[in-house]
Amino acid sequence: MTEPLPLRFFNTRTRRVEPFAPAAPPKVTLYCCGPTVYNHAHIGNLRTYVFEDLLQRTLRMAGYELHHVMNVTDVGHLESDADEGDDKMMLAAARERKSPWDIARFYEDEFFRHTDMMKIRRPDTVCRATEHISQMIAMVERLVARGHAYEAGGNVYYDTATFPAYPDFARLQIDAQEATERVDADERKRNPADFVLWFGQSKYPNQIMKWDSPWGTGFPGWHIECSAMASEYLGETIDLHCGGIDHVPVHHTNEIAQSEGCFGHRWVNTWLHGEFLVVDDAKMAKSSGDFLHLDRLVEAGYDPMDYRYLLLTGHYRARLSFSFEALDGARQSLKTLRNLAHDWSYAARDGGPARESDVRDRATAEWRARFRETLANDLHVPNALAVAWKMARDPELRPAEKLALILEFDAIFGLDLAAATQSRSLPDELMALIARREQARADKDWATADALRDELRAKGVAIKDRPGGTDWELVG
Ligand code: AMP
Ligand code: ZN
Repeated sequence: MTEPLPLRFFNTRTRRVEPFAPAAPPKVTLYCCGPTVYNHAHIGNLRTYVFEDLLQRTLRMAGYELHHVMNVTDVGHLESDADEGDDKMMLAAARERKSPWDIARFYEDEFFRHTDMMKIRRPDTVCRATEHISQMIAMVERLVARGHAYEAGGNVYYDTATFPAYPDFARLQIDAQEATERVDADERKRNPADFVLWFGQSKYPNQIMKWDSPWGTGFPGWHIECSAMASEYLGETIDLHCGGIDHVPVHHTNEIAQSEGCFGHRWVNTWLHGEFLVVDDAKMAKSSGDFLHLDRLVEAGYDPMDYRYLLLTGHYRARLSFSFEALDGARQSLKTLRNLAHDWSYAARDGGPARESDVRDRATAEWRARFRETLANDLHVPNALAVAWKMARDPELRPAEKLALILEFDAIFGLDLAAATQSRSLPDELMALIARREQARADKDWATADALRDELRAKGVAIKDRPGGTDWELVG
């Protein structure tokens, strides 16, 4: 068996770029925090799932056998990540006059519809919080037994004072936080940073999602679901855990306190966090009715792959600003790349189907190595994209070689470039114009043929007469 490609990642736990060393290679375990399904995912949320998709594609390319788990939060997430405010599912149920169960299933389906459109591979295991309540209760019982949790006023809380490493992960200044952020803190808590493991006391007299527990009827806190489901599917030590950068100070800090408090040893070796996509707040906020989600981009005439291309241009640890100008630029670059891929496949086929002997190993190996090195270096996808563009301009490479390389690179990019190399079709009206022009050329009616070429050009289709026949490409 060949050794997996060595990879390096910036580990949030140590704040350093480190060689990636899974516990039992070639197996790798990866847990990603999934969506809270009370509304559509906004385009910022999708950035995080594309980052995780690029990571899983890179791990597989590197030769690892991956088990990728993602949860679906369909209960227990209050408006603020630190247990304050209302229940997001209950608010959505009231807004849409549906039951919280219907809301959860509807938006879960919508989430996967959007991630499919973005060519995000579905995780190997997708687990719903509402289907793992008994595992969460068992974990809370273990925490109570080990002295990390206490009951107060009907709820069960994690006692952060019993886990001295609590501030370490996020480099928290707990004292400063006490003084500023947590003025409305729940008086039942022993320490301001304590958080709820089990809500026996709901704010809603008619709470619909509820289960029996040793602490009375109620529902789980948000954080416990990830700790419980991650260990259910991946065991008590995990190689990689991901999420958006906002999860560092509360959600992931709490997940670590729960899991390590329960298991008594380090839980996750490498943590990767994706930076935010930034747009002005009003456009992004899921809580406002009219925010930017993928359907809005499609309604405005964009292909989801235009947005995916835009996301590839930013490194996951850097903020990325969204604007329609930037999206237009991405669309233009993607169109050029598709046209190139199509041209190479056409040229490679000229005079017969592309032959494997047209792809020289020596010529492609260097480009392949450069491409992999960019990814091995903390998942630097923008650099990988730059390698692809340089490769496209290499005069030494044959079209068949460029085609083979770009399709290989696209196993990471996920832009569906293979579709551009297959015979494409245009709307019937445009295909009819192309056929009429071919007939005019056959009839040697050059004036009509030229007029039709101009008409097609005005409609965004450039005609190319090639030795093997007529071809076309889309132009801006
Ligand atoms: P939620 O459904 O709200 O729990 O969020 C789903 C994921 O999206 C989490 O990993 C968040 O960290 C992430 N996220 C939220 N806002 C943004 C943003 N503006 N840009 C990138 N990721 C985000
Ligand atoms: Zn989580």
